[in-house]
Amino acid sequence: MTTHSHSHDHGSGHHTHDLSEGEVRARALESLLREKGVLQGPVIDEIIETYTNDIGPMNGAKAVARAWVDPQYRARLLDNATAAIAELGFGGMEGENLRAVENSDSVHHVIVCTLCSCYPWPVLGLPPRWYKDTPYRSRVVREPRKVLAEFGTTVGEDTDVRVLDSNVEVRYFIIPQRPAGTDGMTEDELAKLVTRDSMVGVTVLPAVTGTEAA
Ligand code: FE
Repeated sequence: MTTHSHSHDHGSGHHTHDLSEGEVRARALESLLREKGVLQGPVIDEIIETYTNDIGPMNGAKAVARAWVDPQYRARLLDNATAAIAELGFGGMEGENLRAVENSDSVHHVIVCTLCSCYPWPVLGLPPRWYKDTPYRSRVVREPRKVLAEFGTTVGEDTDVRVLDSNVEVRYFIIPQRPAGTDGMTEDELAKLVTRDSMVGVTVLPAVTGTEAA
């Protein structure tokens, strides 16, 4: 436990790895409510899905949109993401040392935790299942372009692909490129375009065309 920097839970006897503490609590609560007959159906899973896909990543989306419209905020976010995220009122567990990196025409970053599932909770919520699974964790390092292609993402040959390995000390998230066709949009409108997967770096944001913006 003292020999590796990735200090949480690896092989150390308890099994909180696949489920976060919050998920474990949610499952325990769910079992109780089912026993009492209060709860039927996949309600808790739906709540977890909501946190994974909607509520959690919305925080990150707000930070990204702010960075797109405010160059000074962008600079602060790149310089000290934990502090810049705190400006928006977000922080807490698994967010002590956040680092934001920017994707561009010249470099495309994608994040992983090769050892387990380190993930920037305050900006992205709970990690999706695939992020925690061995195939993603091992393959994205070995063959990032192939994995990206499986997410429907083609990165040009002249764009450098960099895989960032998150851990207990540093949890990365991506500022995706602002999509084309969004020049007149407000910060709130922009935030709605930013997806979880684009902030993990497995996708890029599509151009906005015509009336879709409204
Ligand atoms: Fe980890």
